[in-house]
Amino acid sequence: MQTLPTIHHLIDGQLVAGGSRYSEVFNPATGKAEKRLLLADKTTVEQAIASAHAAYPAWRATTPLKRARVMSKLKQLLEENADQICALLTAEHGKVLGDAMGELQRGIENVEYASYAPELLKGEHSRNVGTAVDSWSEFQSLGVTAGITPFNFPVMVPLWMWPMAIACGNTFVLKPSERDPSSALLVAELALQAGLPPGVLNVVNGDKEAVDTLLHDKRVQAISFVGSTPIAEYIYATGCANGKRVQALGGAKNHAVVMPDADVANAVSALMGAAYGSCGERCMAIPLVVAVGDATADAVVAGLKVEIAKMKVGPGVDASNDMGPLVTRQHFEKVKGFVDQGVAEGATLVVDGRGIKVPGHEEGYFLGACLFDHVKPGMTIYQEEIFGPVLGVMRVNNLHEAMDLIDAHEYGNGTCIFTRDGEAARYFTDHIQVGMVGVNVPLPVPVAYHSFGGWKRSLFGDLSAYGPDAVRFYTKRKTITQRWPSAGVREGTAFSFPSNR
Ligand code: NAD
Repeated sequence: MQTLPTIHHLIDGQLVAGGSRYSEVFNPATGKAEKRLLLADKTTVEQAIASAHAAYPAWRATTPLKRARVMSKLKQLLEENADQICALLTAEHGKVLGDAMGELQRGIENVEYASYAPELLKGEHSRNVGTAVDSWSEFQSLGVTAGITPFNFPVMVPLWMWPMAIACGNTFVLKPSERDPSSALLVAELALQAGLPPGVLNVVNGDKEAVDTLLHDKRVQAISFVGSTPIAEYIYATGCANGKRVQALGGAKNHAVVMPDADVANAVSALMGAAYGSCGERCMAIPLVVAVGDATADAVVAGLKVEIAKMKVGPGVDASNDMGPLVTRQHFEKVKGFVDQGVAEGATLVVDGRGIKVPGHEEGYFLGACLFDHVKPGMTIYQEEIFGPVLGVMRVNNLHEAMDLIDAHEYGNGTCIFTRDGEAARYFTDHIQVGMVGVNVPLPVPVAYHSFGGWKRSLFGDLSAYGPDAVRFYTKRKTITQRWPSAGVREGTAFSFPSNR
């Protein structure tokens, strides 16, 4: 039997082996194992941490402008190598190439924002906080930081993390998803080409053993995590218990409210992309429509049915396809199981994507778009994150009922409202208990110079990902107060607390 090509770790600027366990990386469009992935053991992860630890003093001392220049150069290399990165991404994740390009572009925008770090790190200064006393706050790097990322944005989510961490003067250990690790590794190699010194960015591939090593090692100061809620909760609790700063972004179940006055045709177009784009494997996907009034619901369901019939499902490498396969066979079975359960629990399956065949790709993990009507709050397909091409329509009588439903859900990542009524939109954005809100925008994913984060059980921690919050997350504030008494001036002893009284 032919041995599959092996994916290595990137430690101290070198591609290295480490660990004796392997997993397989599949092409989801064909169902074939294409590569094998070395799973790092504790010793390998400790080598990566040691490399990041050793690289830290020199990198911390490198001027912010020189650090930022590496990011500018990396942006250029990412643009030049976009086709290769996206081909790898599609081969392992399955998403269509156009979608991969969109993901990469959002990642590049984070690199671009990280190149503004010298401006963002300027700090705060106050002259004469007391007589002849000046005070300032500066934002110092933390040391070794780490990131653990999910399968669904294998290029973009790592770029939410390490460019800003590194631009702020930290060093980094990345543990990408074991399901589609190659594109993140290629991007890290490009960062070395861009001028990052060895050890500043290390990549270890692996599973729980690698993650647990990062969580327990005293040299790691902060951990960024993005993934499912049960693991996010575990990472947050364990990381905090080990004295680390942690931000852990979890799962989602995003509702789109459609008001009776909405432009239904536009809402339907927007919902198609938001529900079925990337096969529904986005934490900002819309898996639920909350239609206000039966007439609205009927119009939305009818419109979606027409649009779903036009969708092309097939391998992501074919640019004419709208939707590729799910990421793994296991995930495919899980999503199909949710559809079975929805039927068993009494929701109306209006469009059934089970049993779809893609000629020439019979072993691929393809599931066609599924559409449910009459989804109810008690149902499993309402409560749980499906993370597949399954959209459910719910019917309510007014905006307050829609908002109560959304607020009662355990997740609070994203939501949106389709309406032409400014008052309703303003009330919705003001009161809804969700972190990212769209008005006639189905995927309100903040741009790189804002920050990304949900509420409730969609985020554990105080600071969101990327944007201004990332500068705060990857630095600690130090406030310095200084006085230089004039020579010969005798200062008296003061026993009262210094103040401006
Ligand atoms: P996952 O939680 O299975 O895996 C995420 C990471 O955690 C991977 O690197 C994995 O190796 C690691 N991991 C898995 N099990 C672990 C364990 N028991 N102990 C330690 N580490 C473990 O998530 P996934 O399936 O890769 O990604 C999909 C999930 O990510 C969805 O729930 C989605 O909503 C969420 N997500 C959230 C956001 C967000 O910003 N909130 C963004 C993207 C994805």
